[in-house]
Amino acid sequence: MVATVLKELQEATNCYYEYRKDSYGQMAMLFQSVEDMEQVNSKIGEILLANSYITQEDYDTKLKSQCAFIYYIADAFYYSDEAYICDGCRRITPMYMADWRRNYFEPTEGEIYCSDCAVKDADVYIAYLLEAPCERLNVFLSEDILKKHGFVALSDTEYETGLYGQTDSPNPIYYKLRKQFNDVIFHATCVTPFATEWKVFVRGEQQ
Ligand SMILES: [Zn+2]
Repeated sequence: MVATVLKELQEATNCYYEYRKDSYGQMAMLFQSVEDMEQVNSKIGEILLANSYITQEDYDTKLKSQCAFIYYIADAFYYSDEAYICDGCRRITPMYMADWRRNYFEPTEGEIYCSDCAVKDADVYIAYLLEAPCERLNVFLSEDILKKHGFVALSDTEYETGLYGQTDSPNPIYYKLRKQFNDVIFHATCVTPFATEWKVFVRGEQQ
């Protein structure tokens, strides 16, 4: 059924949509706009009916819902302002995690990668962080992964930056440490909407 619907859908609509796995492993659709979604949804309904995958009664009932037919071929759908296709794993990926943390990074202009790919290709993510250490906080790699890539915690000291008087800044720490170490990464240990706690990791002590 899905193959038939997709084939006929491709021929029947000029809308933008993607049909592929999302980062939860389920089949999903990505749309650019509500109009595209509605048009694709009604087209799927027509195809299902024309191929007798659903009855006329079923079709008429489901017509009342804005997106019911999409769920015949997909488990979820997204709009392009809330999800993107990762250039690494090619999955539809929500831009923000459940706790509102950003769920992507852009190692080069025009490329966008997800947090799973940051872990899988940690070297790429580390290089991205090292380009602008004071602006780019490590939120994807665990301390264990950092250690595997040669980083050590400078100390157990945790810093805090936030909206209510937590004013630690990475800049003075970085400018002091960069004379002593090749690489400095600020590693988030706790992220909330109002404050971020972080630790300092270093690599390559200069002699
Ligand atoms: Zn990815």
